[in-house]
Amino acid sequence: MLNAFDWINHTTSLLVGDVQTWVFVTLVQPVLYHFHLMVDDDFAYDGVLWFLAGLLQIAVVYAVLRPLEALRPLEVWPNRRAVRVDVLYTFINRLGLINLVLFFTLQPSFDSLQEWFRLRGIDNINLDTLWPGVTDRPLVAFLIYFIVLDFAGYWYHRAQHQIQWWWELHAVHHSQRQLSLWADDRNHLLDDVLQAAFFAMLALLIGVPPTQFVALSLVSGALQSLQHANTRLSFGWLGERLLVSPRFHRLHHAVGYGHELGHQNNARLYGCNFGVLLPWWDVLFHSADFTTPLQPTGVRAQLPAPDGQGEDYGDGFWAQQWLGLRRLTRRIAGLGRAAPPGGRAA
Ligand SMILES: [Zn+2]
Ligand SMILES: [Zn+2]
Repeated sequence: MLNAFDWINHTTSLLVGDVQTWVFVTLVQPVLYHFHLMVDDDFAYDGVLWFLAGLLQIAVVYAVLRPLEALRPLEVWPNRRAVRVDVLYTFINRLGLINLVLFFTLQPSFDSLQEWFRLRGIDNINLDTLWPGVTDRPLVAFLIYFIVLDFAGYWYHRAQHQIQWWWELHAVHHSQRQLSLWADDRNHLLDDVLQAAFFAMLALLIGVPPTQFVALSLVSGALQSLQHANTRLSFGWLGERLLVSPRFHRLHHAVGYGHELGHQNNARLYGCNFGVLLPWWDVLFHSADFTTPLQPTGVRAQLPAPDGQGEDYGDGFWAQQWLGLRRLTRRIAGLGRAAPPGGRAA
């Protein structure tokens, strides 16, 4: 019987396999040889897979979510101009450009880190060593990797909010006030590279096979697009406790809730709803909020005074990247603004 994991794999290779070979042989290889680029064939072939799978994923996500946004919008905007830049972020990220940068910049340190692990005998925390035979069942292995990576994702995301210099980068993601199906990949590029490096390293360490890693990334990306979509969609009481819903994640983006001191009397000092795909960790570590009604999204510092400081996070891609770097260097140099009354500096 074909299980869900096999189905994803089969469909991807069916849809992408022949095209991948064709693109590789007719377009990529000639260019590599012509310019004498010393790129490993396997690496280039995998790169084509990321690119095509990403393209397919964007098409499917758009075909499903865009009609929902048009028919049942949650927020009605005068125009969608602010959304355009997020389309660019989506293409940069999902077509594998970040992985390409990662490969060329961090591969040497990656290799030495792996060697370091190997020398200390911690190169095989992989699933099959801990639980022999479990990886024979691809779906079980897939679900375990999914849960482990998501658990790491929860703490990674909390750190992005709690560590001040890191928040200055993550604020690019939160500065979108018109959340849509495109908003997920709106990140600082430096943050993207850090994140890709962290999860690739973790996947390598726990022994996630490359095909499963691609499938995990595709499923995760599609679900995260859904979380940001501007549409009225309820998962129901139980559903939103099993899987992060658009409502749950939108509250994470809410001004005064997602990041700033919104809950001074309890443990949610740095916001709520950090879960990437599973809200379980938020429930377990007391950062879940299922009840607060939806609020406008954004960063408090963006609001005009007296609510905020009218801080500019940039409208275009380069402005957002530059301002993010400037906030980061100022924070590191200790020049960050003092926290405004009732809220933290952003
Ligand atoms: Zn966040
Ligand atoms: Zn988000």
